[in-house]
This record gives sequence, C-alpha cells and structure tokens, in this order.
Amino acid sequence: MKFDTVIIGGGLTGLISGIRLMQKGQKCAIISSGQSALHFFSGSFDLLNNLPDGTPVNNPEASLLELSKQAPNHPYVKMGESKFTELAQKAKSFLTEIGIKTQGCSHKNHYRITPMGMIKPTWLTMSNFAFFEVGKFPWKKAAIINIEGFLDFNPDFISEAFEKIGVETSIAYFNLPELNLIRKNPSEFRSTNLSFVLDKEVNQDLLVKILSEKSQGCELIIFPDCIGFRNADLLPGLINRLGKPIYLIPTFPPSLVGVSTQLYLKDYFTKLGGVFMLGDNATHADIEGNQVTNLYTLNHGNIPISAKNVILSSGSFFSQGLLADIKQVYEPVFDLDTDYLTDRADWYNSNLFEKQNYQQFGVKTDKNFHGIKNDTPIDNLYVAGAILSGFNPLKEGCGAGVSFLSALYVAEQILIKEKTYEPIAQYK
Ligand SMILES: Cc1cc2nc3c(=O)[nH]c(=O)nc-3n(C[C@H](O)[C@H](O)[C@H](O)COP(=O)(O)OP(=O)(O)OC[C@H]3O[C@@H](n4cnc5c(N)ncnc54)[C@H](O)[C@@H]3O)c2cc1C
Repeated sequence: MKFDTVIIGGGLTGLISGIRLMQKGQKCAIISSGQSALHFFSGSFDLLNNLPDGTPVNNPEASLLELSKQAPNHPYVKMGESKFTELAQKAKSFLTEIGIKTQGCSHKNHYRITPMGMIKPTWLTMSNFAFFEVGKFPWKKAAIINIEGFLDFNPDFISEAFEKIGVETSIAYFNLPELNLIRKNPSEFRSTNLSFVLDKEVNQDLLVKILSEKSQGCELIIFPDCIGFRNADLLPGLINRLGKPIYLIPTFPPSLVGVSTQLYLKDYFTKLGGVFMLGDNATHADIEGNQVTNLYTLNHGNIPISAKNVILSSGSFFSQGLLADIKQVYEPVFDLDTDYLTDRADWYNSNLFEKQNYQQFGVKTDKNFHGIKNDTPIDNLYVAGAILSGFNPLKEGCGAGVSFLSALYVAEQILIKEKTYEPIAQYK
C-alpha cells in the first residue's frame, strides 16, 4: 500500500493534518488505534492561557516573546512568532471552511464554564456553548435546566459560576417518558444516549413546551451538552421556536461535542478520499539512512505500508503515543529520542494540583518538527500534537493549540517539500 503521507493517530492532530494534505491533493491514510482526547473535549480549544511561570495570558499573539524566554523548546517557539500568529488565525478560518463554527480569536482569550463550574480562559469555543468576556455577559437572568437523574451535569456548580459573573439563575429539572427506558441502567444514562431521545423529531414539540415553561421570566436557557448529536440544525431550530438563546455547558465525559467533532472530522477526511484505518495500530517501521521506508501495523501484519512522508501524531501517555517504564520514557513505534527528566522522583508532584513535570515530556524534534533518532533527524518523519515535548498542556492551557498549529505546520512543511504548497492566504 502506497500513499503520499501516512499519519499515525486519528485524534485532532492527525485529522487536521490529514484534511489539510488531502485538500491540497495528497493521497493520505490515517492509522488510528482507538479513541482520542477529543472524546473528553470541553468544547473549547485552548491556545495559551498562562506562561510557564504562571503569568496569565490575555493576548496569546502578544505573548510569544516572553514564552520564548521562558520555554525555548516550546512548539510555538520552534515555529517562530510570525508563523504562530499566522497559523493561529488560519486555524479558525480552516474550521469555518470545513463547516465547524467557533467563537473567539487568537489576540484575546475569552472565558468558558467547565462542568465543575469553574470559569476558565480559552481561545475558540464551539458555537452554542457558553462564551463570554469579563464584564460583558449580555444576560441578567438564566434558567439552568437539567434532566432528572442526569448526574454528569451539576446545575448547582453551574449556577455558582453564573452568579460570579452577575447572572441570576433558576434551576429546573424535567423528564420525558421515553427517557425512563434508559434510566433503568444508570451507566447508560449518559449524554450520548440522552441525545438519541432528545434529538428525535417526535419529541421536539414536548421539549419546546417544557423548556418554555421552565424558563419563564429568564432571557436565556443553560442546558447540558446532550442534544443535537447527529443533527446540527436541531438546536438552532429549538432556539428559533423558543425565541431565546440556549447555551450549552459541557458535561462530564463522554463529551458529546468531542465525539461529534471527532466523527465530523473523520467523515470530512474520508469524503475527501482519505483512508482511515480504524482500530489498527502502527507497531514498527523500517528506517534506512534518514528515511522511513516501510510501516507495519497490527492488522496488516507483514504487509508494509509505504509513504513519501509520515506524520507521527499518536498523542501523549493518555493515548499511549508515549510509554514509560521504571527507567525511561519512550516512543514505541520508531523509538525516537525523547525529552524527560532522568530521575524518576522528579517526574511527578504528589500534590495533584501542582505542575506535573511528566506532562512536559515528549518526543524531541528539530525546528521543522522532524523526529530525531540517535541524534539524527529523520527527513520524512514529522511529529505533531500532544506527543511533542517542551510544553505543559494543563498548566499553560495550550493543549489543542499545540495540536492544531503543529498539525497545520507539519502539513505545510510536507507541501513545501513536495512543492505543492501555495501560501495559505485561504484554505482552498
Ligand atoms: C482527557 C483530555 C482532555 C482534553 N481536553 C482538552 C480540551 O478540552 N481543550 C484543549 O484545548 N485541550 C484538551 N486536551 C489537550 C489535548 O492533548 C489536545 O487538545 C488534543 O486533542 C490532542 O490531540 P492529538 O491528536 O495530538 O492526541 P490524541 O487525541 O491523544 O490522539 C492520539 C491518537 O493516536 C492513536 N494512537 C496512539 N498510538 C498509536 C499507534 N501506535 N498506532 C495508531 N494509532 C495510535 C490513539 O488511539 C489516539 O486516537 C485534553 C487532553 C486530554 C488527555
């Protein structure tokens, strides 16, 4: 099997780079062993919320100089300030062009509300999700409406968050007779299953009646993210009929918005002609000189997959793109050079809420994001996303930003190398 580019890992990074390369006429395959971090997605992409020393960031674009002083190996610093700004701006238009609407921009963080009721800064928030700037929330009274017995959304936590920003709230619960069928098994009473009932056409009139009654006297409805899974028109339709906005709040996992974003991107990639090898696992590769020549997977056994270029986007420890044993942190497919602290005692802090050093471990790359093996860059192997070293996604609040921008960056490197690249004035 021969491709222009083979991508290992079908999470946010692999899908964005795959779509970008397919848009430019490449023939690509994605090998993806399983679920990705998107299944736990909050509905907001973070670009840069804090500098490594903890200083809050309001304007990510204006923070690159200071970031380069504090974290010279940060993936954003490797790209350079102007490329960071260009790709951060283009990421939003890339999403818009493929049909994913978001709110926010890269020169000013806005705020979102977490399922725990915390108010956090972020970069891009999916449309219909609660989004605001400090002091600029336009609503005074909101109705928080939950489904009876749905424990992955806690209206009390959410109410506290809204009250902090000066919004008065009321809390109400409702039931639909059909929900009693899934309620019998508490482990089934999750956002994805609820949406199968709430999304049904036959339930829409009753839903409008209930939401209308429960939100009387309120200008806004706050609802858990458990609606509109397979029908993007459903929520706009409800809003239209109710005559007032509905803002979604993410629930505890599984994340409906994350699963639907993953499926949407995967479908987009395959509609462009990409091959998505779901449930397969890249195991090892042949490397000759400084080139990957063949890749092998669990399902294809000794039938090699070859490509002019390979992108490694297999994620961090969470997705087993990185593994650790008692002595070392390693990358299991190519055995690439990794960055980690040699003394295991320094890997983590026993205070869970403190900075955890292991989050910064990852695969070493050169400036062009080539993977490095035995100190030598591999010319046709690019590394992107959560597997990269040099950043702390949680403490810096930059997880999706690093994934998104490095995905676009490596795609661009490949297109330049293969001379099919046009400057990205527009993603067409
Ligand atoms: C639980 C969780 C929630 C997060 N939520 C957010 C959020 O809400 N907002 C935000 O900004 N950031 C968030 N992040 C940060 C996150 O890292 C990025 O947002 C981003 O989604 C990571 O994408 P990725 O594709 O690089 O890696 P992943 O999403 O981890 O995907 C890697 C993929 O590679 C596959 N894979 C691994 N090894 C192989 C192999 N050998 N062969 C084939 N496939 C393989 C895995 O199965 C997986 O599908 C979150 C991170 C985690 C862990």
